[in-house]
Amino acid sequence: MLRGLPSVDALAIRIGGGGAAVAAARAAIDARRAELLGGAPAAADETTLLEARARAWLEPSLRRVINATGVILHTNLGRAPLAAAAREAVARIAEGYGNLEMDMATGARGSRHDHVERLLVALTGAEAAIAVNNGAAAVLLAVAALGAADRPEIVVSRGQLIEIGGGFRIPEVVAQMGGRLVEVGTTNRTRLTDYERAIGEHTGAILRAHTSNFRQLGFVEEVPVEALCTLGVPVIDDVGSGALGPLHDEPPVRGSVAGGAALVCFSGDKLLGGPQAGLLVGTADAVAAARSHPLARALRIDKLSLAALEATLRLHLDPEPDIPVLRMLRDTDTRAAAERLAEATGGEVVPVKSKVGGGTLPLLELDGWGVALAPRSIPGVVGRIEAGRLLLDPRTLSDADIEQIARLV
Ligand SMILES: *Cc1c(COP(=O)(O)O)cnc(C)c1O
Repeated sequence: MLRGLPSVDALAIRIGGGGAAVAAARAAIDARRAELLGGAPAAADETTLLEARARAWLEPSLRRVINATGVILHTNLGRAPLAAAAREAVARIAEGYGNLEMDMATGARGSRHDHVERLLVALTGAEAAIAVNNGAAAVLLAVAALGAADRPEIVVSRGQLIEIGGGFRIPEVVAQMGGRLVEVGTTNRTRLTDYERAIGEHTGAILRAHTSNFRQLGFVEEVPVEALCTLGVPVIDDVGSGALGPLHDEPPVRGSVAGGAALVCFSGDKLLGGPQAGLLVGTADAVAAARSHPLARALRIDKLSLAALEATLRLHLDPEPDIPVLRMLRDTDTRAAAERLAEATGGEVVPVKSKVGGGTLPLLELDGWGVALAPRSIPGVVGRIEAGRLLLDPRTLSDADIEQIARLV
């Protein structure tokens, strides 16, 4: 049965030869041998099958795709596409060396956080800020930094014991960080007195977590951050998506800072529209505690994300920043784009509702226009199936994407 398999060298030559071809041939043959030994039926022509698989192995695994789903922060498609200025910043810093941790005036060691701290301070009104690897890391670090050994208790409302996704659950985060979770209130209603009763000499912090990916309606009550901050205990406010300006009903970062939160945590690649990153902004003391915590080193942001983050934050200094995610949220008239797309694909223009996605603004539906087609697969294009038809939503398409789809169909 295994005799039908070509040799590594023979297969490598068929796909062009060279080191990568040998690696691809070996990987394809090894995998095929395991399949056949596992009882898979032999193919009519093993060499042709293996050639196709080895060629596929040589293709980049992480590729550009066109997001025609209309879901703006599609987690599986990489959340926020970067603004041009952010892409250029990444390319510049990737090309050579940079002043990541060097003060160029003195030659002394600098801090990578300095590249974004001033901007975050200007944009949020906080005293200090740092950036880490992602939003989950920011929450982890905040809990670790403020929950000291002698004050391990982290107080959380029962209405905010949330799962963010990918198994990231607030109670487990607190436990992992060596904290002791103190639950207060009920699923639907928590009052200031509930918190007051729970606070004692072992309280490290109060943690608020925004219910980003779901909403409670009806007989519901939670305590505003300003009121929590009067209790004399540091408040960590995990606002999730990081709205710097007013954005539908998302809690603005500035509001939590002004309310007195010790640390406000949010993501870089949700409504900020930047790279994967986690931001912590707050009081000088709390940010210093986060910076000097041993976990900060393990959770640190890399230079490419930092370059994209700095450029994205700079764009936010403009009240109407030219950032793809924010443009998609603003664009109400997608009709002209839908008409171009319909002409290119032979589809029909139909009304559609787009979603924000990424566990953000779960109830918001953005009205617009899309194109419905008979179901089919367009290589490298992800759409959605609705009522048995393929729907392409131009909200998440650039003009170049529409031209590309036109070429593909
Ligand atoms: C999304 C989210 C996080 C996690 O942020 P990531 O950047 O996805 O790691 C944490 N908390 C809340 C409330 C969120 O919405």
